[in-house]
Amino acid sequence: MSVARPPRARHIRVLATLGPASNTPERIRALYEAGADAFRINMSHGDEAARGALIAAVRGLEGEIGRPMTILADLQGPKLRVGSFAEGKVMLAAGTPFRLDSDPAPGDARRAHLPHPEILAVLRPGHRLLLDDGKVVLSVTDHGPGFVETQVTVPGVLSNNKGLNVPDVVVPMAALTEKDRRDLAFALDAGVDWIALSFVQRPEDVAEARKLIGTRASLLSKIEKPAALMSLDGIIELSDAVMVARGDLGVELPPQSVPRAQKRIVAAARAAGKPVVVATQMLESMIQSPSPTRAEVSDVANAIYDGADAVMLSAESAAGQWPVEAVAMMDAIAREVEADPLFTKRVNFVETRPEPTTADAMCEAAREIQAIVGAKAVVCFTTSGSTARRVSRERIPAPLLVLTPKLATARRAGILWGSHAVHTRDVHDFEEMVGKSKRMALRHGLAAAGDRLVLMAGVPFGVPGSTNVVHVVRLAGDELDKR
Ligand code: PGA
Ligand code: MN
Repeated sequence: MSVARPPRARHIRVLATLGPASNTPERIRALYEAGADAFRINMSHGDEAARGALIAAVRGLEGEIGRPMTILADLQGPKLRVGSFAEGKVMLAAGTPFRLDSDPAPGDARRAHLPHPEILAVLRPGHRLLLDDGKVVLSVTDHGPGFVETQVTVPGVLSNNKGLNVPDVVVPMAALTEKDRRDLAFALDAGVDWIALSFVQRPEDVAEARKLIGTRASLLSKIEKPAALMSLDGIIELSDAVMVARGDLGVELPPQSVPRAQKRIVAAARAAGKPVVVATQMLESMIQSPSPTRAEVSDVANAIYDGADAVMLSAESAAGQWPVEAVAMMDAIAREVEADPLFTKRVNFVETRPEPTTADAMCEAAREIQAIVGAKAVVCFTTSGSTARRVSRERIPAPLLVLTPKLATARRAGILWGSHAVHTRDVHDFEEMVGKSKRMALRHGLAAAGDRLVLMAGVPFGVPGSTNVVHVVRLAGDELDKR
């Protein structure tokens, strides 16, 4: 049997967005070799043919490399936009009045179309309207049927179809637009592993999406609205993962509130045992430059010290000039941060107390045993992936070898902290479990003769249920011959 790919030399996962800068099998492979563990397809861009080609390229790579690959399809969500202008754009001067209404006629310096009647209906004096990522700000002064009057508080140029953020109200809109439903159906048929929901406001939004998705993919909620922060725990509970989506979050909240929100979201997700991704502008300057700013490097490092499961690249890998270098930079930062002798201590600043379950007791025991005997890996047998998530939550310094008979579980584990997932046949008895653990650890370069492994499984074998066995094995010298 050939020696399989060893795990990454770090626990944090790297999620790279694909796009025009990374849309060929060769380029995607280069991102993988540089350190990308999972790939995001942004449904706000491209057409179905382009997205289908990206998905096929990742699956092709999976076959070539023999490692499960993770694909996340990111739905655009109810993104609000203004209408168009007779002259393509207008200059809005400070202090001047500006009206938004339901008239589809092209706008001018006095008014514009807002093609979202439900938004016009809930706006009240004092509410802010942030246009074009907050470059222009309006404040509502009056409202009536089908219109609002505003005053320009931050002046600037406004052009056709620019985005609009309304941070001060819970927007009465469905979690998924018609476009999202079409994109979702396409993504599920194409067999993606994760669906990301944008502009989640309430736990009900997650429940609505879950009804459509069922068990066909896992569900990640993007936290990018102040309203989502108000019901954070409820949203996390109904989601399989969350993202700190700092782009829109930083428009809707003052920028200085974002770091604190990031720490809060990461801590809440980790406490709940749900993977958490930190996203947006992480290496922004690398869109144009082969080297990042010191502040960007520090930002990535701090997300890793916070104990996030994954860090994400957006335009850096999708549309920038240095996509491979950006991934390699994240990999390098992660390896350096995780080599810090204080890393484990800093990551464990967030408390993740066990729930009173057998599985959590076993996971905590596995962490302690690994530390005491210096085991080289924790090997976890899982069907649904739930045990893998609970062990990953322990943030054990050794790699987590996830063995699963379900390909979907192996793929979905790609955004999980520390996990190296392998799709393999199930084991049926204790001896087989021990044998397979040793063989897989050797084959994947996780351990050598004399090393110990911590094994976790559920007995009886083959019956889905909670983990109830933790076992320590030591690799003998002659086992090296059997790999
Ligand atoms: P987006 O989401 O890139 O789809 O807008 C991420 C964010 O808002 O940070
Ligand atoms: Mn966003």
